[in-house]
Amino acid sequence: MNSSASNRGNNPAEEWDVAVVGLGPVGTTLAGLLGKRGLRVLGVDREKGIYQLPRAGHLDHTILRTLEELGCLDEAFGETIPNTGMRLLDGNGQLLAEIRAQKLTPSGLPASVHFHQPSLDRTLRACVEKMPSVEMRNSSELVGLETDDGITLHIRSGSETRQERARFVVGCDGAQSAVRALGDIRLNDFGFTESWVVIDLILKDRVDTLPDNTVFGADPARPYAAIELPGMRFRFEFMLLPGETPEQVTTKEAAERMISPWLQPTDIHRIERSVVYTFRGASADSWRKGRIMVAGDAAHLTPPFLGQGLCSGVRDVTNLAWKLDHVLRYGAPFELLDTYQIERDPHVTNVITTSIELGKMLCVLDPDIARERDRKMLESGAAPDKRVTFKLGELVPGPLVLSGGGMFMISPPIDGIPLDDLVGQHFLVLAREDSDLTASAEWWKKIGAKVATLAELPTADNALEKWMDRRNARIMVARPDRYVLAAGNSLEEITDQVRSLLASP
Ligand SMILES: Cc1cc2nc3c(=O)[nH]c(=O)nc-3n(C[C@H](O)[C@H](O)[C@H](O)COP(=O)(O)OP(=O)(O)OC[C@H]3O[C@@H](n4cnc5c(N)ncnc54)[C@H](O)[C@@H]3O)c2cc1C
Repeated sequence: MNSSASNRGNNPAEEWDVAVVGLGPVGTTLAGLLGKRGLRVLGVDREKGIYQLPRAGHLDHTILRTLEELGCLDEAFGETIPNTGMRLLDGNGQLLAEIRAQKLTPSGLPASVHFHQPSLDRTLRACVEKMPSVEMRNSSELVGLETDDGITLHIRSGSETRQERARFVVGCDGAQSAVRALGDIRLNDFGFTESWVVIDLILKDRVDTLPDNTVFGADPARPYAAIELPGMRFRFEFMLLPGETPEQVTTKEAAERMISPWLQPTDIHRIERSVVYTFRGASADSWRKGRIMVAGDAAHLTPPFLGQGLCSGVRDVTNLAWKLDHVLRYGAPFELLDTYQIERDPHVTNVITTSIELGKMLCVLDPDIARERDRKMLESGAAPDKRVTFKLGELVPGPLVLSGGGMFMISPPIDGIPLDDLVGQHFLVLAREDSDLTASAEWWKKIGAKVATLAELPTADNALEKWMDRRNARIMVARPDRYVLAAGNSLEEITDQVRSLLASP
């Protein structure tokens, strides 16, 4: 260790390793991923506490894997229901297409779940607050930033503005990000803007007339979404029609009228809220400017039709956390942080453009165009689950995604313990045999990697061996964010390509 990470203390003038601005789900996850590595993290949020109303309702397995890494998956899981998929219906309720949830995931965790965001936010917060090297402050708003050989943050609490020093700052401060503005980072707009009213209900009881899981209604009279949430909660989303104002569609009467095909007012215990959101697609032109980075909604905005905005944000910080760790603890060069945008930007762009395509298909108000769209889909000859598709992409090839890499590594149980838990927050170097572990294995150990042969990681069904067989590989290196870096035949070759990026020479 060669940095302040090893230099703990309570001196308030001491530099934080990382300042995280915004303690929504993305910022809190980042604080936790860094805190678990022992880095000194200051998290600030301008609000008094966590936001009490849900926005996101769906999470996929990649996020569950990160929650598992933080050690709060079990608690978070109590508040979820499995997601079986999404159905797209026409205006008459006929099935146009469906996206089915994956049956198997690389980690063995469920493909995706529906959840109650404030409950998850509370669970996350409680988990991260326990970490001794993390301090989280509410009612603390970032109002200024200066960079030199570190960062000075100006943080306003009540009438007082204090300065804090950090080596890096990550803006997880949402769509209107102050960090993005102060860092002079711009958003590229993808040219999709639609306003929808989101109505969250608490029901008295489960009602048979409600659809299961998620339904999108491509009804030209008014496109809608109906989303089952845990407990007695249910969400409807309706597109605003031309000329309608937020004031008109957010009244109790408007909500009751729009949901009347499914529910009577007597079915409802309470309308928790009714709010208009403008769904947009956008992404930052630069995800890092020197010591300033952005993540989550501060870095990109995704229309919620695939339930992926928050998921992308958590994937951002899972990607970034271990790179910051390597720069701070192992003296890796700043260029390592460039791979953050190189890897995350195309991944997020794929998610945003697919969400926009689905949105464009859904947000059709002209009955003739809608009829033609439906006819084409129904007469396409393709099965409903092939008419609209979405698959989470792999990482594109790059400095840390070499031959045989880019996909998620599997995490089979070894003596009942998932491989992820055995590896922890490190690289995994997996060799077919001892003889494949050449001299550079020692270098990997020095940067914290778990180095093992197949014989040392026995699984009940030889899952790891089969994984290597399918790729005809003798060596596999997986990164701390569980993506495969490379699979091949020579550890020397792989190491030579990444050594200078991961640690000081
Ligand atoms: C209707 C709707 C449905 C959605 N459904 C899904 C879904 O099903 N699945 C999914 O993955 N995503 C979904 N999303 C997207 C998801 O809600 C967002 O992507 C996610 O909440 C973003 O999290 P975040 O932590 O990046 O930002 P936020 O949750 O916005 O948090 C930002 C934080 O920064 C703080 N902050 C702001 N400025 C400052 C400052 N200057 N100083 C200090 N603190 C500051 C704020 O107080 C806030 O706490 C949905 C969104 C909407 C609107």
